[in-house]
Amino acid sequence: MKLIFCPHCQDVVKIRTENFRYCWCGKSSGQYAKDGLHAIIYGDAIPLGFANMSFHKAIKQQDNHDSITFRAFVIEKKCKTIEKKKIFNYEYYKNFTG
Ligand SMILES: [Zn+2]
Repeated sequence: MKLIFCPHCQDVVKIRTENFRYCWCGKSSGQYAKDGLHAIIYGDAIPLGFANMSFHKAIKQQDNHDSITFRAFVIEKKCKTIEKKKIFNYEYYKNFTG
């Protein structure tokens, strides 16, 4: 699961395929492509990843009155599945998200 972190307002927002999502201050945003794997992010967004299995295991453990850690990471700058753009371009965005 991919999320974005905004270094300005410190929001963490899960990106989705259905629509473009922004942080609270509007300086970071992103969306998954239709394939649900590739993503496009804008502005100063820093991409984050949650290891899904690890995250869901931690949620299940909550039922056992247990708090366990899960794996999350900052995604590298040259990730093949993420396009980072400084400025929003509608045509590019439409082609990317379908
Ligand atoms: Zn922000």
